[in-house]
Amino acid sequence: MSNMLSFHSISPAKVLRGDKAWEKGKNLIPLISHRPILIGRSKATSKIREQIKIGLSRLGLKVISAELNHDCCEVDINRIQKLLINTNCDAVIAAGGGKVLDAGKLLANRLSLPCITIPTSAATCAGWTALSNIYSPDGAFIRDETLEACPSLLIFDHGFVRQAPPRTLASGIGDALAKWYEASATNTSSKDGLVQQALQMARVLRDQLFIDGLEAFQNPNSEAWVRVAEGCALTAGLIGGIGGSNCRTAAAHALHNGLTQLEFSDKSLHGEIVSFGILVQLHLEETIGNNQLASQARKQLIEFLQLLNLPTNLNDLRLDKIINQRLEEVCRFACKDESDIHKLPFNVNTDMLLEALKYSRKQEGLIDFRESIRGAKHLD
Ligand SMILES: [Zn+2]
Repeated sequence: MSNMLSFHSISPAKVLRGDKAWEKGKNLIPLISHRPILIGRSKATSKIREQIKIGLSRLGLKVISAELNHDCCEVDINRIQKLLINTNCDAVIAAGGGKVLDAGKLLANRLSLPCITIPTSAATCAGWTALSNIYSPDGAFIRDETLEACPSLLIFDHGFVRQAPPRTLASGIGDALAKWYEASATNTSSKDGLVQQALQMARVLRDQLFIDGLEAFQNPNSEAWVRVAEGCALTAGLIGGIGGSNCRTAAAHALHNGLTQLEFSDKSLHGEIVSFGILVQLHLEETIGNNQLASQARKQLIEFLQLLNLPTNLNDLRLDKIINQRLEEVCRFACKDESDIHKLPFNVNTDMLLEALKYSRKQEGLIDFRESIRGAKHLD
């Protein structure tokens, strides 16, 4: 095992983080590009994109703008790729949430152009990683694509990220927590030093999220917010970079990918679905993997997720009315041969996953969690 060849894209070439990171960071962009395409999506972040465009125009850059209509999907990518080629752009700037960042990275990768990421929320670590998730125009997960490299420049401007709804931070916490639960479950006996060290980082990050998460969620002007937002958007990506492909996802993300196949009337965020996925994974570890600690870990995690308004059962995902046949399709997708669910140290099939999902229909036992969270150390 230890002699296997491992390929790592560990981090962006440059990372600038802080309160006015954009004001400083924009001066680095003319060193990379003279004619960037700036891509984004939501109305909520259009002011930020306008600020970026004006700032770069003042530096003498010709900026072309393009808007995505969907999640990171081939339809949008192909359309913007044509625009990019027709307008002779020489770099991609992606300013937005995880799916915008994934689309920008993918586009730049396909044309071998540099990519600059500017996250406008801490909901994922997509601004950091050399990986893009590709969805259908309806938001159903199709596959992920490994990219040649991490972005050339990541600008993590606290002012930009602070304006995002608290819900996105909670979602980022759920996604970052998954690093520990998924990587530790799949690497219990890894002899690889880099994997072991990445796991320790994931554990430290988990503890920090347990300790600071609630304060960060409630107060975006706190120091805790900075630690948590950077943990979710930066450190989580670094862990994947150091640990490599063996240190990424397992059942929580596999179930997320399956659940996106459903038509949500009110779609949940990536990290929200992943949070629920962690609980289902822990249930599998307990009932199929015979891991007694998983049951305790699950109860403690439920308390924490509820504090952050994250989903802990199908009702919370507004999927309580879903029929079992549809759930079975979700499970079949999550258990496809190439799925990371098979990285778990025990065998999981569609029926087993379906059982675990049915279990999660039941309302979790109510615990007076709001009292105990301050002493978050017990969550270890
Ligand atoms: Zn994720």
